[in-house]
Amino acid sequence: MSRIVVLGGSFGGLTAAFELKRLLGKKADVTVVSDDDRFVFLPSLPWLIMGWRKPEDITLKVSEILKPKEIDFVHDAAKQVDAESSKVITAKGKELPYDFLVISTGPHLSFDEIPGLGPDRGHTDCTFTLDHALRAGQSWKKILENPGPIVVGSSQMVSCFGPSYELAFEMDTELRRRKIRSKVPILYLTSEPYLGHMGVGGLGKSKRFMEDEFAERDIKPLISQAIEEVTPGEIKLKDGTKLPFKLAMIAPPFKGVPAVMPLGNPRGFIPVDKNYRHTKYKNIFAVGVTMAIAPPEATPVPTGVPKTGFMTVKMAKIAAATIAAGITGKTPPPPSEIGVVCLMDMGNTAAYMKAYPVLPPRQSSYTKKTIWAKWMKVRFEKYFLWKMKRGLSNLP
Ligand SMILES: Cc1cc2nc3c(=O)[nH]c(=O)nc-3n(C[C@H](O)[C@H](O)[C@H](O)COP(=O)(O)OP(=O)(O)OC[C@H]3O[C@@H](n4cnc5c(N)ncnc54)[C@H](O)[C@@H]3O)c2cc1C
Repeated sequence: MSRIVVLGGSFGGLTAAFELKRLLGKKADVTVVSDDDRFVFLPSLPWLIMGWRKPEDITLKVSEILKPKEIDFVHDAAKQVDAESSKVITAKGKELPYDFLVISTGPHLSFDEIPGLGPDRGHTDCTFTLDHALRAGQSWKKILENPGPIVVGSSQMVSCFGPSYELAFEMDTELRRRKIRSKVPILYLTSEPYLGHMGVGGLGKSKRFMEDEFAERDIKPLISQAIEEVTPGEIKLKDGTKLPFKLAMIAPPFKGVPAVMPLGNPRGFIPVDKNYRHTKYKNIFAVGVTMAIAPPEATPVPTGVPKTGFMTVKMAKIAAATIAAGITGKTPPPPSEIGVVCLMDMGNTAAYMKAYPVLPPRQSSYTKKTIWAKWMKVRFEKYFLWKMKRGLSNLP
């Protein structure tokens, strides 16, 4: 029986584990290691901040959904991967030998790279984890009670821009509903070289689209910016500009998590081939945020390429099928390009964004505002949680 260890219990880790068990059954002993026993549907965190969702609406217990599929769960953080002797060492000192390893540990949110950034040791809020989003929700409530300027956006080295756009649009919508928009200037601060770049060189007309929407909604953009430091109530940019705020919701620089840093590039993102196999260690696979994609172009302020949930699930399926083929002696799936599909909430409506492949030059790429994208986004949340709860990873 092959021993397969999966690091991470989210989009990539759970999909890979379910797929491996489905494809291999008794031929494989699959163990998921995660420092969090919760699967959180992260795309709904902006709605949680706005007060439109509660944690229990978007959270599943990982140990409970793995059990019926006979997948073992270790509730612990991986501390080190010993790639030479094929074993994982956990923070509690457990050693887990493997024949194959799938890494899907997501990003390390690197607040420490910018003095004063972040909710734990700094002065800004963030939407990237459930705990941070809960705190951000409290800060948002304070703005509704005592309005003042908001800065929302992304620092240098971010590789996930969508949630900041969503929050800017959602805040605008909610403030208008409450008839207090004129008391809350919204500034969208970003490392992107232009609005709608999103780390992928734009999607169709996304540049013009965002410019028009921001103009109509009176959201002031400040592009191509790097943050020097944050002090209480003020962001200082590298060019010396000072931005006062009452609420700042800023995405931090992304890195790989410490346990997998040695397997990756200088920022800890893991180099893989088109089947998501490590370029050096052939029994290690990396999917989702943790794998490396080179940016499509050098930007004046460094930005990273996003790996969305949609992309992560596709990667996990390809990695699992490749491992299963290796074990059963079948032909592995052919290397294939993946694309990106994104339903971006805009508060009172939404945008459907698509690019294939992810980076230019592309076969197809567009951005379109449509109310049905909003309905799809709500339905997709329910569908994905339903699917994960039952381990139905074979569904789209
Ligand atoms: C606010 C927000 C909104 C988003 N909106 C969208 C959207 O609308 N559409 C879309 O497609 N995508 C969206 N995304 C992106 C999507 O959520 C990510 O692509 C997806 O979560 C990536 O999955 P992952 O498994 O690679 O990493 P993550 O989801 O980050 O999961 C990492 C997992 O690894 C675990 N872990 C971390 N370190 C260790 C360790 N040392 N040992 C063991 N376990 C560890 C974590 O606990 C977690 O379970 C959004 C993301 C955020 C944050």
